[in-house]
Amino acid sequence: MMVAQGFATRYGRNLLADVVPSLASYVAVAHPEPWAVLGPSLAHQPEAVIAAGDLTRAHLEHLVDTLPRVDAIIGIGGGSAMDTAKWLHWRRELPLYQVPSIPSVDACFTRMIALRDAGGVHYEGDAVPVAVLVDFDLMAAAPPALVRGGIGDVLSCHTARFDWQLAARAGRDHPWDEHAAQMSLAYVDEVEALAPLLAIGADEGVRRLMECHRDIGWRCHDLGHARFEEGSEHFFAYAFEEVTGRTIMHGELVAMGVLIMSSLQDNDPQRARRIVDLAQMRTRLDDLGVTWGEVEASLRRLPSFVDEQGLWFSVANSLRVDDAALGTARDALQLAASAP
Ligand SMILES: [Zn+2]
Repeated sequence: MMVAQGFATRYGRNLLADVVPSLASYVAVAHPEPWAVLGPSLAHQPEAVIAAGDLTRAHLEHLVDTLPRVDAIIGIGGGSAMDTAKWLHWRRELPLYQVPSIPSVDACFTRMIALRDAGGVHYEGDAVPVAVLVDFDLMAAAPPALVRGGIGDVLSCHTARFDWQLAARAGRDHPWDEHAAQMSLAYVDEVEALAPLLAIGADEGVRRLMECHRDIGWRCHDLGHARFEEGSEHFFAYAFEEVTGRTIMHGELVAMGVLIMSSLQDNDPQRARRIVDLAQMRTRLDDLGVTWGEVEASLRRLPSFVDEQGLWFSVANSLRVDDAALGTARDALQLAASAP
């Protein structure tokens, strides 16, 4: 088992109910479902409940300008709730508590805020919470597919490490760091070990997965880049979002990227498949609401996309998306040869 570094984190039940009595006043930035679970249990109610979702600078700055005078900010929910709460905490210098509602949320463990503006995502700000509160009852209330999908952003180490090695050998991007590369392997080992626990929704599976996210968030900051956990699997996901103009759950999309890209890398794709199956993740395109046509178009776009976007050097740069490559991708998704 892994000993993680990173933000102060508490695991248990009723954690927020224990914190709220110490706050004279606070604002909650919350998604409706987790707020419905936690809100009624709190000793006193917030000055305002701010809806999360819009991560444009204009909207976030409007929230800063209209924020009531309070002692603390509490983020409750998925990534956009975490990021909105981080922005208010950073801009108004108020103590921050984060309560993630699914274990796929690494936004609670990263310092910068992912703003969405015309042209994509960019990162700004610097947030450090007083504590991240991982409430097992809240996690248990989330749809199982979203809980299991949480492994995507750890499994990504499998393909990312390979791409980093490829880049280092070609003298591109960030130089090789043997310790970070070793940790990349350790995260994949850990996610394989915890996958069966997560599949059954065990608290221990949630805790160990969140500890991976916590350590990865810390390591990205410490190292100054994320090459050990972000590579062509993420670039595939970004290309998918550009090509289709939509997205699906991040962890599930990234895991699809790992299955496909590990096959195209010829990098132990059986292991990636074994881990997603152990976690009982959704990987069938029908279950994900994705068509093969969308996957094929994303792959065809990938080489020019990574070039135009200036993304880190990876197997995607020199990928020839011919019939053989498309056949390999189909096999990775376990599609029958004649499926649409
Ligand atoms: Zn990710």
